[in-house]
Order: sequence, then C-alpha cells, then structure tokens
Amino acid sequence: MTSQTLPPGREVQVCFHGIGRPGRTLEPDEDWYWVSADQFQRLLDEICDWPLTRLSFDDGNSSDIELALPALVERGLHASFFVLAGRLDQPGSLGRDDVKALVDAGMEVGNHGWTHTPWPDVAPADLGLEIDDARVALSEAAGTPVRNAALPLGRYNRRVLGRVRASDYRSLSTSDCRVARPSAWLVPRFSVRSSDTPDVLRDRVEAAARNPRRTALAANGIRKRWL
Ligand SMILES: [Zn+2]
Repeated sequence: MTSQTLPPGREVQVCFHGIGRPGRTLEPDEDWYWVSADQFQRLLDEICDWPLTRLSFDDGNSSDIELALPALVERGLHASFFVLAGRLDQPGSLGRDDVKALVDAGMEVGNHGWTHTPWPDVAPADLGLEIDDARVALSEAAGTPVRNAALPLGRYNRRVLGRVRASDYRSLSTSDCRVARPSAWLVPRFSVRSSDTPDVLRDRVEAAARNPRRTALAANGIRKRWL
C-alpha cells in the first residue's frame, strides 16, 4: 500500500486484540480476533511499510506486554493500548505495573471500559463505571491522564456518543472498517481477524480506501457479535 492508495487527508487505524495463547477463558466469538505470535510478526512487518497508519490493541490482554510491546519497540513503532479496567491484575490480562511499563516505553494507554459490556447495553446509571471510573483507575495505573477511549465490541448509539463527549475524551475509537480522518473525534479502525494474512489485511484496507462509503455499508450489514 502506498500513500496514493489512500484518499487525500485520510489515515489507516489497525486494531489488534489477543496474540498467542489466551491466558483466560475467551468470550463467545472472541477467538476470531486472536492471532498467533508468528502471524502477528508477519502482519506487523506488512503494516510497517504502510503510510499514515496507527496501531492499537484492545482488551488489555497480557500479550500486550509480553508479545506486542517488544515487537513494537524492535521496529520503532508507537501504539495505543485500550485497556479494560475491570480486568487489571486478573490472570491473562495486564497488571497495573504492566500499564505503567507501557507508558514508560512511550505507548499510550486508553480506556476500553470496566466490564467489556457494549456501552449501548449499559443502563445510563451504570455508564459512569465504564466511562469515568475505569478512566480514573487506568490513569492511576498509568501515572498519566487517560484521554482517549475505544468502544467495547465497537458498538455505539447516539446516547453513548453524547455521554462520552460529555466526559471530555479527546477521541473515541470504533471498529467500523473505514479509513479515518486524522482530526476526527470518532475514529474508525480495522480489527485484525484470526484469518488475516498480510495480503488479506492489505486487500481489506485497500478496498475500503478505494470506496469508503460502499465498504462502510457492507461492514454494517455483516456486523459481528464480537469486535
Ligand atoms: Zn474489546
């Protein structure tokens, strides 16, 4: 992929989840988004060559610190890690010390909620736990303010967007499989799937870059239960 592949003023956001062997019981369909350690290295080598591309890692799996961070540092890459506050220090997930280590290595830590419940399904009275309390817990672990968030399972509605905006987040990441505007508050990302080879991932992103509207509609039509 070259800079000519992207429409002017757009960038690509790629989101990983777990890498290698999970250290906890996965949620239904979550295995569709885990990649092997070898696959991760190959995908990262492919993405390294892309222009205007940002990386993120959702869910706060322990593979973030064990496999992702060394591979990023080796390649001189930066990424955002959207962590589930309610899983901190749980088996298979990042500990508070790991969150601090990510920040110390130059990575960004963002909020992915407390329970991984899609925010449209959370009662209004309970959204504070997901959006505000989780942010406080992660900021304390990181030793620096958390300013960005990513939606659990990529799901949102008008109520959720309004609530997150009211909490003064700088950005909110989705899983909408579209190229992104760098200045946008709502940030679409391509979630890497377990079936992705470097060629398949590149083809998906290039197809979306060629025809953003058509790809967005297709993505909505086949929305998965788990993202
Ligand atoms: Zn997630």
